[in-house]
Amino acid sequence: MYRVNAVKLAVDEGADERLRGVNEVIRTVTVRSEQLPRRTFRIFVELEGMYRNIVEQLVLHAVNNNITKFTRLKAERYREVRSLYPQLPSHYAYTACQDAAERAHSFLRLKRMGRARKPYPEVRSVSIWLDDRLWRAEGLTSINIATHKGRVRVSFELNKHLLRYVNRGWRLTSEARVKLDHKERRLILYLTFRKEVSEYRPKGYITVDVNEDAEAVLIDGVVYLFETGLSRITLGYYYRRKRVQERYDRVYGPGSRPARKIFKRLSSNEKALKREVRWKLATLIVREAARRQAAIVLERLGKEPARSMIEHIKNPQLRHRVFQAAFKGMQRAIEEKAREYGVPVIYVNPSNTSKVCPIHGAKILYGKDRRGVCSKGGETWHRDVVACYNLLLRALGGDGGHAPSRLRALVPVDGGPVPLGPTAAHEPTGVPRALWARWRSLGTNGVGRDLPEEEVKRGEVSRDKRVETQFLYI
Ligand SMILES: [Zn+2]
Repeated sequence: MYRVNAVKLAVDEGADERLRGVNEVIRTVTVRSEQLPRRTFRIFVELEGMYRNIVEQLVLHAVNNNITKFTRLKAERYREVRSLYPQLPSHYAYTACQDAAERAHSFLRLKRMGRARKPYPEVRSVSIWLDDRLWRAEGLTSINIATHKGRVRVSFELNKHLLRYVNRGWRLTSEARVKLDHKERRLILYLTFRKEVSEYRPKGYITVDVNEDAEAVLIDGVVYLFETGLSRITLGYYYRRKRVQERYDRVYGPGSRPARKIFKRLSSNEKALKREVRWKLATLIVREAARRQAAIVLERLGKEPARSMIEHIKNPQLRHRVFQAAFKGMQRAIEEKAREYGVPVIYVNPSNTSKVCPIHGAKILYGKDRRGVCSKGGETWHRDVVACYNLLLRALGGDGGHAPSRLRALVPVDGGPVPLGPTAAHEPTGVPRALWARWRSLGTNGVGRDLPEEEVKRGEVSRDKRVETQFLYI
């Protein structure tokens, strides 16, 4: 009897731990070596050549035989690879198998989707994969790499980024990659850091309503509308690509090399810009949540962009891209950052979050812009503010119109359970990207209040003055 209870107790505790979650967070840090003497660098050039050759052969074999698993590839080819370059430390055969298996895996997936352009993947850029036998750190500024000419010691430049990880308790792992910078005769090292972060028990909530061009965030009873412009970025690049295509197709014919080159540059610029926007905003939100020990509440997104907001985009492919960038991508950035800070993330049902008044539970009648009037209380609401509060209500479990949780949730809105408080609470505070991108936090006394008022105002969603006057006199 006692045993059974003990087991049960242990299970419960385990469940609790899982509920709170311990996440392993992985980050890659790039460091550059010092410029190497020609003779030393030549060793790495030879090593790269051999490694590339091995990977090329392995990828060929893997693709021909439909192999995507490292273990199978190693079982079938290890001996042959070893006999090819017996002077090479044996572990390069392992890491090359891992590298090749990953390349084959992604190529075969593209092929299945009909998006592979060539019958075999090209091994164009190579970074040499290293494991615990092939390298080790020697102090903070140098490493030791095993090569066909014995072990070589390489010093590298200490950078701020690396120090930050070292000082904040991240663990350097044995997986690393090294790439050659032929122009500068340097090695570029990609080091992997890991850290285990456990989630805290939330003391409150920060709700996030993601839109195509902005993100509404409810923090301490104020809704901030952080402009991201993500759909504008997607659409902008789409049209630029289209113009390039039309022009180049006329001159060079469809699918020409110069056009492809430009596409490649455009899409990498687009990706980098979006990444930066998402990453910065996610960091800002997650930091605020961590400071308040709050959980972040997000909408549970479906697979399809069946959202009324982007229905105006007729091209399904483009609609998908806007959805991916603005909704999915933004959520993923928040999730990723939240894991790092141990911030719990809660998902709630997104249906009708902006249609019903959070105070009265009655339908909101929207006009042309994003503002509407509650059909019961007659007070005015901004769509994003409504969504944020309804997400909060759902997180609190008060979705069925239960008065207690409605009141609990809405106390900060109006300073009391009075539905018609200051209109300010029903209007979001708009913050343009140029502004929040420079913030590290929302300021000490609440929220960005340390900022010049005009700057905040300039970023506000254009207000319809007449509607606003109406609010005041309701
Ligand atoms: Zn109402």
